[in-house]
Amino acid sequence: MGTHFEKLKLYTNKIADVKYAISVLNWDQETYMPPKGQSFRAQQIATLSGMAHELASSQEYANLLQEAQWDSDLNPIDKRNIELLLNDFEKNKKLPKDFVIKLSQATSEAFHAWIQARKANDFTVFAPSLEKMVQIQQEKAKIYGYTEHIYDALMDDYEPKATVKQIDKLFADVKQQLKPYLDTIAQAKPLDDSFMYGHFAKDSQWNLGLDVLKMLGYDFEAGRQDISEHPFSTSFSMQDVRVTTRVREDNLYDMLWSCIHECGHALYEQGLPLEQYGLPCGEATSLGIHESQSRFYENNIGRSQVFWNLYYPKMQAAFPSLQTVSLAQFYQAVNVVKPSFIRTDADELTYHFHIMIRYELEKKLIEGSLAVKDAKAAWNQAYKDYLGIEVTNDNEGILQDVHWSHGGFGYFPTYSLGSFYAAQFQAQILKENPAFFDEIEEGKFENTLAWLRKNIHQHGRFYSSEELCKNATGEGLNFTYFMRYAKKKYDAIYGLN
Ligand code: ZN
Repeated sequence: MGTHFEKLKLYTNKIADVKYAISVLNWDQETYMPPKGQSFRAQQIATLSGMAHELASSQEYANLLQEAQWDSDLNPIDKRNIELLLNDFEKNKKLPKDFVIKLSQATSEAFHAWIQARKANDFTVFAPSLEKMVQIQQEKAKIYGYTEHIYDALMDDYEPKATVKQIDKLFADVKQQLKPYLDTIAQAKPLDDSFMYGHFAKDSQWNLGLDVLKMLGYDFEAGRQDISEHPFSTSFSMQDVRVTTRVREDNLYDMLWSCIHECGHALYEQGLPLEQYGLPCGEATSLGIHESQSRFYENNIGRSQVFWNLYYPKMQAAFPSLQTVSLAQFYQAVNVVKPSFIRTDADELTYHFHIMIRYELEKKLIEGSLAVKDAKAAWNQAYKDYLGIEVTNDNEGILQDVHWSHGGFGYFPTYSLGSFYAAQFQAQILKENPAFFDEIEEGKFENTLAWLRKNIHQHGRFYSSEELCKNATGEGLNFTYFMRYAKKKYDAIYGLN
């Protein structure tokens, strides 16, 4: 390893140390911090964030980045690290300081307005801030620059190299293939899931969650689970990856699958290469790939027939009310497909229409073909067109997500990308290991995790998501795999064909 690169690595380690320390403070804030801790905690996080920003934009860092390129004995991974660090550095530098301040002010204002609007259940309270936010996002996209579509520049923060062209094609497939299939399911006999509601003791749910995490291969020597208002996972290094969950005692839907979902995220972080700490090749490659890991575990495994063949007896033992519910009934209940208003409650099929609606709306807002004042009507019309439901109040409609108030334009598509990548990965795993389903049924998850480690986790950001997908499966993202997966599964559940 080159001596200049060594120096650069020491420096990026320092940046990482500060960033991960911020993550620890954030995690604590969401889990254990007492109420009075809030004000100084905000100050502490702001101070450290300022330090991280200074370190990441200093002249010293710029010099180290230049010098590291002179090393003659760099391996491909370190070359790639330098390339990505330079890219990040240049991108970071593009935003002028007064723009960053303006953006951060607009964000806190928009978030505040969104909270107020939610209280009033009234989009017009949020609309002026949203309008400002859209303008600032347009400005940001122009500063970053783009070749084809202005929205491409915004997606790049979450899904590097994703383009409107690519996402438009995916959602055209969703409309063409998934929509008629949903219409077919809507004609089928509705499934009963009434037994999923009742009283389910907190302790029993919590213990099952821990048990499943362990079974799936989450390393408790390198992480722990705690309770928070909204479930999330966060990483302080590859050797300390935390997950959180919340327990609702009145239904069984919330807890276990959110544990499994966060576990999928955490397995990715725990599987990143240790020696790449503080370097791009020690980070996840994109949010879409991150979400592919969580959704693969949550849906492709956690809502599969074989998983419940294995796990239902434990579930019944934990919750006596399930004694009279058959395995077949339970499996159907965890896979009910039904159009609904709230994205985060949606099943794995209708979910993608929630995303498509948001994607099309924010794309139009950013390109200027839709005015903020018309966004609510457009939202409600889209829910009618694609999901056949009438939105009657803003909290269950256009005000439900926090993303726009945080300035997260370009984020939503990564959720659908995650499911589509997951289906394609599963098809490949099955090809390489025909015993995939049998192993799940026997509670063996090692081979599956090993495949993900080898093909995805260990590479960090070395490959882009499309490259990763091509290397692992022989082709770029292809919606056909999701459709095949969905048909096979839901034909059986709904007794179609
Ligand atoms: Zn997720």
